[in-house]
Amino acid sequence: MSHVFPRHCHVQLPTAVGGEGVWLIDSDGKRYLDGSGGAAVSCLGHGDAEVTGAIKAQLDRLAFAHTGFLTSEPAEALADLLIRHAPGDLDRVYFVSGGSEATEAAIKLARQYWVEKGQPQRSRLIARRQSYHGNTIGALSAGGNAWRRQQFGPLLLDVSHIAPCYEYRDRADGETAEDYGIRAAEALRTEIERLGPDTVMAFMAEPVVGATAGAVPPAPGYYRRIREICDEYGILLILDEVMCGMGRTGTLFACEQDGIAPDILCIAKGLGAGYQPVGAMLCSRAIYEAIAQGSGFFQHGHTYIGHPVATAAGLAVLRAILGRDLLAQVRDRGETLHSALQARLGQHPHVGDIRGRGLFRGIEIVEDRASKAPFDPQRKVAAALKKAAFARGLICYPMSGTIDGRTGDHILLAPPFIITEAEIGMLVDRLAGAMDEVL
Ligand code: PLP
Repeated sequence: MSHVFPRHCHVQLPTAVGGEGVWLIDSDGKRYLDGSGGAAVSCLGHGDAEVTGAIKAQLDRLAFAHTGFLTSEPAEALADLLIRHAPGDLDRVYFVSGGSEATEAAIKLARQYWVEKGQPQRSRLIARRQSYHGNTIGALSAGGNAWRRQQFGPLLLDVSHIAPCYEYRDRADGETAEDYGIRAAEALRTEIERLGPDTVMAFMAEPVVGATAGAVPPAPGYYRRIREICDEYGILLILDEVMCGMGRTGTLFACEQDGIAPDILCIAKGLGAGYQPVGAMLCSRAIYEAIAQGSGFFQHGHTYIGHPVATAAGLAVLRAILGRDLLAQVRDRGETLHSALQARLGQHPHVGDIRGRGLFRGIEIVEDRASKAPFDPQRKVAAALKKAAFARGLICYPMSGTIDGRTGDHILLAPPFIITEAEIGMLVDRLAGAMDEVL
């Protein structure tokens, strides 16, 4: 009997024993095409010798030094490289061990910034109903996923949630994508005015929504207007690129494609690419200076921040993404994946939308294409698709979520950047087979 506390108590999982490229191998020798990189984690695939080599070398040199006493070479080098490629005036990197820690730290940094600036009345965070920012209490409070939040309501912070930017369902007939983008962004202004502008500290959002609704990109102009509104009211913009960052959408950071930069940027998953648990929160020079010239101490911290082996892995991953020209490859293979999905599933009676950027693609499953009516949640369509795909040797990330009272089923695809055209063909074949079986 296993003594591991699993995610699902009644599901017997195979044991992973190996990984090569886009493939995971279990103890029976069965091979699974990792079509979602776990949950958009394994961007370089499995068994990357350069990354494992960097980890081993760092372990031999120095495994751990507490950041209360010492900094380390890999942490310094990774921070330098991230800042060299980061948008806007992001200037400092605070390392953590994962995505929830990054967003949690961002919420606290935003709050401390306003306290240091002499505006302690700014304590309100605004986020969106279609969002996931992690599972710790602050991060869960920011997220809008009703299913994940339902049991913990009494413990959560009072975060305001505005409507998402969700063209597939919310763009009106006859409205251009640009007009819709502006209209959706203006929901932020309405909420700021409702709360009282000088009580708001920050707005947090995912540039491309991941774990609630399957790779939903913003409408054109949405984020430019969001940035303008934040600037107008002096509110911090926190972008959560834990899933969509680190090259997943074809640029190192997804927000580059929207022509804006945040005040705080959160990354994780693809930073360690599954080789080590590592994430980061990047902040602007102005935010850092407010702390440095104020109390001089960010009132936060975990034992493992800036871990030498974790940051050595992150450094090797970032060097690989940049040095192997993987961003161009993501754009190219992303188009191949999108075209293959369109060709095979675009006319499927239960496929409502195929969307995303780069190698970050989502499929929205509906019962009826014309009305966009979702399946009855009791059918648990996304979970059934995950199971059928897994039986065919394909790992894809299913999700069902209630957003504004509308339940939807989605499949998220986020394969490693090294996926070949032939493997994309296999991925789409297996997914289509699973859909034919389930729907
Ligand atoms: N933010 C986003 C956008 C995510 O997708 C996730 C995880 O899926 C998180 C935060 C939380 O990251 P972690 O699971 O590493 O804590």
